[in-house]
Amino acid sequence: MQGMQTVFDRAVDQRLITTALAPAVFGSMWLDPDVVGPIPDYPRASGALSCDLLVVGGGYTGLWTALHAAERNPGATIALIEAESIGWAASGRNGGFVDASLTHGAENGKSRWPAEFDRLERLGVDNLDGMQADIETYRMQVDWERTGMLSVATEPHQAEGFGQAAAEGGGRFLDRTEVRAEVDSPTYLAGLYAADTCALVQPARLVFELARACADSGVQIYEHTAAESLRRDGGGVRVGTGVGAITAARVVLATNVFPSLVRRNRLFTVPVYDHVLATEPLTGAQLDSIGWRDRQGVSDAGNQFHYYRLSADNRILWGGYDAMYHYGRRVDVRHEDRPQSFRKIAGHFFITFPQLADVRFSHRWAGAIDTNTRFCAHWGLAGRGRIAYVNGFTGLGVGAARFAADVCLDLLDGRPTERTELEMVRRRPLPFPPEPLASIGIQATRWSLDRADHGAGRRNLFLRTLDRLGLGFDS
Ligand SMILES: Cc1cc2nc3c(=O)[nH]c(=O)nc-3n(C[C@H](O)[C@H](O)[C@H](O)COP(=O)(O)OP(=O)(O)OC[C@H]3O[C@@H](n4cnc5c(N)ncnc54)[C@H](O)[C@@H]3O)c2cc1C
Repeated sequence: MQGMQTVFDRAVDQRLITTALAPAVFGSMWLDPDVVGPIPDYPRASGALSCDLLVVGGGYTGLWTALHAAERNPGATIALIEAESIGWAASGRNGGFVDASLTHGAENGKSRWPAEFDRLERLGVDNLDGMQADIETYRMQVDWERTGMLSVATEPHQAEGFGQAAAEGGGRFLDRTEVRAEVDSPTYLAGLYAADTCALVQPARLVFELARACADSGVQIYEHTAAESLRRDGGGVRVGTGVGAITAARVVLATNVFPSLVRRNRLFTVPVYDHVLATEPLTGAQLDSIGWRDRQGVSDAGNQFHYYRLSADNRILWGGYDAMYHYGRRVDVRHEDRPQSFRKIAGHFFITFPQLADVRFSHRWAGAIDTNTRFCAHWGLAGRGRIAYVNGFTGLGVGAARFAADVCLDLLDGRPTERTELEMVRRRPLPFPPEPLASIGIQATRWSLDRADHGAGRRNLFLRTLDRLGLGFDS
C-alpha cells in the first residue's frame, strides 16, 4: 500500500536547490572564524603528568565536569585532555537548542520513568536555570536567548497531539492563524509553544567560553592529546597518551560518540549522522516576510523532524530530518558531506518558506550524534569506582551535558545524591546488537518511522513491538 503524502513530499524546483546550495562551504557555521571570532588554542601535553582529576574530552560534558569539579574542590589539580581541539565535534556543530528536558522530551521520559518523571522535569528546569546562572557568573558571551520552543504541526494528526499536550501542561496551543502570526509558513496547521523550557545559544561560543572559565579556574587544558589506554595504578588510574602517562586519582570519560575507553560500554551507542544548513544573514525584508519576531527555536513534529532557529546575525540554521546510520557504527568524516541529505533538507526549507526563494545557504555540515536505545544519557563507573563515564545524549545533549557532568562527579564522590538515586541514572539501556543486526534493525526502524510519518502517525507492528520493549531509534 502506498503511504499518504506529507508536505515534505511536494516537488521543489531542483534548479532552485542547486543555486541555493552553490555558495555553501563545508563546515560548521558556528566554528567559522568570520562568525565566532578567533578560535582559542591550548597546548599539547608534553610529558608525564599527575593530577587529582583527569577529564577526557573537550566538549560540553568534559568542560562542565572540569568547571564544576573546580568549584567543588578549589584546591584540587584538574587536567582536561582533548584528542583534537576544543569543541570541534558535536559541541561545535549542534543546533544550539538548550532544552530543559533530560529525557529527550517529555513523552520519552514519561513512558520510561513514570514514577520519577516529575522529578526529572524539575531537575531539568533547575539545570537550565543553573546553566543560565553559570553563564552570568562567569560572564560567558554565548548569545544566550531564552526564547522558548515552538513546535509546529504540518499534519492534522500532529495538531491533535498538540491539543492533548497543551491540556497536560506541555505548552500553549496555537491555532493555524496564531502560529502563522509567530512564524509564517503555509505548511503550519497548529503550534505548541513552551515559553520557558528552552534557550538558544551560540554552540561554539559556549564551548570556548566554558574552556576559558575552566582555564581561569585553574584547570589545565591540553589539546591534540588523546587518551589511548586506561589502567588501574595503585589507588588511582594511569591514562596512556602518545606523549606520556597521566596519573590521576579519578577520571571522567566525556568522549561522547567516540569509541569508549571502557570497552564494554561500546555496544550501548551508535553514531547517527545529522545534517545541517545555514543561510546567509537574512535582510530586513526577508525576515519581515516570515515574521519570527520572538526568535523562538522551532521544530516540526514528525518522527523525522527539522529543527530551525535564527542566529545572532539572522541566519537561519536548518537541520535534522535525514538522520543516517552507516553500517559498521564507525565515526568517519566520510559520512559527513552527503549531497543527497543536503539537497533533501534544502528542498524542505523552500517548502516551509517559499517566500525565501532568493535566500542562499552559506554553510553545510554534519555531525555524529551518540544515540542509545533509550535516547538519553546513561552513566557508569569502572576501575573500582575511580572512572566515571556518560554516553548516549542522542540529539539533546547541550543542556543535559551539564547535568551529566554533575552526575559523574557525584558518582566519583561515592555519596548518594538526589541525582545518583534516580532510576534513570542507576539503570542502563539495552545495548544495540552487533552488526549486521544493528544495521538491519536500525534500517527497519527508520523505514517504519517514515511510513508512520506518511500514515497519519500510525505505528506498525514492528514499532509497537519496539515500543513495548522500550527500544528505539531517534536523533
Ligand atoms: C548536528 C548536530 C546537531 C545537534 N543539535 C543539538 C541541539 O540543538 N540541542 C541539543 O541539546 N543537542 C544537540 N546535539 C547533540 C549535542 O551536540 C551533543 O549531545 C553534545 O554536544 C555532547 O557533548 P559532549 O561533550 O558529550 O561531546 P563532544 O562535543 O562530542 O565532545 C567529546 C570530545 O571528546 C574527545 N575525545 C574522544 N575520545 C577521546 C580520547 N580518547 N582522548 C581525548 N579526547 C577524546 C573528542 O575529540 C570530542 O571533542 C546535536 C548534535 C549534532 C551532531
